[in-house]
Parts: sequence; structure tokens; C-alpha cells
Amino acid sequence: MIYDYLVIRFGEITLKGKNKMNFVQKLENDVKDKLSRFSMLGIKRHFDDIEIQLNGEDADQVLSVLTRIFGIQNISSAIKVENNLDAMQDGVLRVMKAENGVRTFKIAARRKDKRFPIHGSELNQGLGAYVLKNCEGVSVDVHNPDITLRVEVGYHETRIYGHEYDGAGGLPVGTSGKVLLMLSGGIDSPVAGYLLAKRGATVEAIHFQSPPYTSDRAKQKVIDLTKKIQSFGGTVRLHLVPFTKAQLAIRDAVPEDYRITIMRRLMFRIAEKLAEKTGALALATGESLGQVASQTMESMNTINQVTDLPVLRPLITMDKLDIARIAKQIDTYEISIRPYEDCCTIFLPKAPRTKPDRLHAERFEKSFDVEALTDEAVNGIETLTVTSEDLEDAFSDLL
Ligand code: ATP
Ligand code: MG
Repeated sequence: MIYDYLVIRFGEITLKGKNKMNFVQKLENDVKDKLSRFSMLGIKRHFDDIEIQLNGEDADQVLSVLTRIFGIQNISSAIKVENNLDAMQDGVLRVMKAENGVRTFKIAARRKDKRFPIHGSELNQGLGAYVLKNCEGVSVDVHNPDITLRVEVGYHETRIYGHEYDGAGGLPVGTSGKVLLMLSGGIDSPVAGYLLAKRGATVEAIHFQSPPYTSDRAKQKVIDLTKKIQSFGGTVRLHLVPFTKAQLAIRDAVPEDYRITIMRRLMFRIAEKLAEKTGALALATGESLGQVASQTMESMNTINQVTDLPVLRPLITMDKLDIARIAKQIDTYEISIRPYEDCCTIFLPKAPRTKPDRLHAERFEKSFDVEALTDEAVNGIETLTVTSEDLEDAFSDLL
């Protein structure tokens, strides 16, 4: 490995105008935090990028961390040389030779320091000719090269970039406000949490459990899913709601085909009360339009009635297969398919109503004490905080 540096480029952050520096500051903190176990690294923030001097640390391991941090568009490996033509020629040649299997190339030189006497286009030609002369079997392709060798003449030194890696995209976690994610043990809701974190949201999770009908293994499953969501950034708190009493009351008071609707209305009421306490500005679910009876337009309309908060549904237009693909990519799939019971499944009616309406729902809710059950559940919430040690665990599986 000839590269001494990794250079992180920002994505959408660069569109943030006056706020840009807040976003960049947040990203820098995330990068430092996530890379803290690599003690030799030198991390320096510039206006357009964050530069990481490897100082002997393993580039691949550092990359595997960086590619999971939201707000990073791409990462390039790089070397630095002095601001003179000889050093640049030697540099591009070294990079070219280090990139095995490359047949075609293009030089893209740029002067940040306009005092440097050779213009970009002249540099392109000069450095390109030098590579052609000293590297056998390669040719220039300006349209679709195997590699673009970027040469950036700075005020003090010149960077030459080699391979470019895709970053995770999105915005730094914590720059978009807090959302309370309704996290089940299923495949969908963890994916929704990941997508929200990717857009910069601070995600807190709420999970409804119904012991003894649901077991400790079901709880562990949700804790493990929370860890995975946390591995993408932020601190994730998990709120566990005792839901047995409410579910039994619903079973006793509500006709079978409306039980899921009423249960979900209760979940939303409880989540809204918790959101008020924790400062979350929206609720979120893993619902996808039409996937099951409780996710039809009519169901969502009837369920939404009980809350004034925005309910974010990042998966609403996605097919199950697409959701599963992301779940595999973010490593939650295997946890989600562990066969433990969820509170939704225990009193599941054989034929839930696919088009419930608000009037019926309101009427059925008159036959039991919705408010008391809501308050009791909120008061019984147990909150776990997933720590950075847990984060290390979640990471070690991935490295
Ligand atoms: P998932 O795969 O996320 O469980 P699903 O396709 O199984 O979704 P439902 O069981 O109808 O769908 O749940 C819809 C949404 O309701 C879930 O995505 C989740 O946001 C929320 N939800 C369901 N069960 C629970 C629970 N026990 N605790 C918290 N939220 C839940
Ligand atoms: Mg489910």
C-alpha cells in the first residue's frame, strides 16, 4: 500500500450554505469518535474535506469504519508530494503502478493555488505523457478510464488521489432532529430506522412487549436490532413498553376484526406521550402500503387519527423484496428472522379488517378505559441505552 492518506468528501452537506460548517463539524466529531480505536491516525478538517493521515494504521480497516458513517459521499486514498513537476510526475507514476490491472487512465489536475505556474490542462498533458512513457501497456481514455488520477495542487503541497470508494451518503446523524421509531422484531422496522438515521435523524426506539406471551428472547432480539441501528451512528435509546394489560383489554372488549386497528391506535397514543417526554418530533414505522391488512390506506388513516405528530414511513412505497435486500445489507435480516413471537402476533385475528374506519374504532374504544391503559403503559416504560461498548460488539461481527 503506497497510500499515506484517506480523504473524505462530503455529499449533500456542501449544499447547506451557511449551515455547512455545523454539518461538517458534526461529521468530524462522528469520524473522530468512530475511529478512536485507531490511535495512530492524524485527522484534519479542511474546508472541502477531512484528511486522515494513516501513520501506519491499516487502510482497509479504517475504510470499513468510514464507509458506515452517514454524511460521507466518497473516500479516496491519496499520497502527497511537493509542489513541483518532478515530484508530481513521480507521484502519478507511483499511484498508477500501485493500481493493479488498470489499462486506461486519465489525469484530472486542478490548481487550488493559482500562483502555481502550470495550468490544469498543461499539467494533464504533461503528467499524462509522463505516465505513457514510463508505464507499459496503458493508454489514455478521457471518457471512460479505468482510473482517473486526480492531482490537486494545494497551497503547500499536492495531493494525488488513487482509488475512490463510495461512502454511505446521507447526512450526519443528529443533524435532523429526533424521531421515535416503533421497532418490532420484524424485518421492516429496523430498515426504516436505518433509512432515518441515514437522513440525519436521531433515532430512539419504542418496542411493545407482552410478557409472558412474549419471551426474553424476543426482547433480546429487539436489543440486538437496536445495536445494529446504533452502529450507524448516534446513541440509540430503546424504550420497552409493558403492553400485556392493554392487549388483554382489547381482546376482551373489541370485536376480533378490529383488534389490530385498536391495538395500533393504542401503540400510537403511547408512543406520542413518550415522544413528548423525550423531545421526539415525529413517530416512525416500518409500514409499506398494502403489505398487510393494517397497512392499507384505510387502516393508516384510521390509526393515524389518534396522533398529531407526523408519522414517518420510510418504506411506504417499497416492495418486501427490496426491504429484505437492505436488511441483508445492514445485517439486521438474520436477527429479524429468528423465530420469536412478537406482541402483534399473539392475539392476531384470523381475518383482520382491511378497511377499518374511524367511527367504528372510536365506538369500540368507548367500551374500555383507553386513557388509563395508555397512562399505565407509559408509566411502566423501561429504557435501555445502547452504549459504545455494545457498538464495538455490533461492529466486530462486521469487520
Ligand atoms: P415489521 O417487519 O417492522 O415487524 P410488519 O410487516 O411485520 O413490520 P406489522 O407487524 O403490521 O408489520 O407492523 C407494522 C409496524 O408497526 C412495524 O413496522 C413497526 O413499526 C410497528 N410495530 C409492530 N409491532 C410492534 C411492536 N411490538 N413494537 C413496536 N412497534 C411495532
Ligand atoms: Mg411485525
